[in-house]
Amino acid sequence: MKCLIEFMANFENALVMSVDFLHPRAHQGRKHPHNLIACCRPCNMLKGRHIFKTFEEAKAYVLARRDELRKSWESETSRSRGNAAKA
Ligand SMILES: [Zn+2]
Repeated sequence: MKCLIEFMANFENALVMSVDFLHPRAHQGRKHPHNLIACCRPCNMLKGRHIFKTFEEAKAYVLARRDELRKSWESETSRSRGNAAKA
């Protein structure tokens, strides 16, 4: 099974795979195959309760968020590595 948002299949993803509602259940999204997507929990979490018109829209949003978070994480870790080197 693949995370349809990143379109990746790896073991870590498989461990945290879940089924998500494209149109959130919290907003009366229905449990219909057209409204269900398989994605890993990190993507699911990032998607949150936002409402997207299409899967493509949801995917673009989640991937952009992941990228943002990765960049801030990378700059944080390189900063702490830099500090450690100075100390
Ligand atoms: Zn994912």
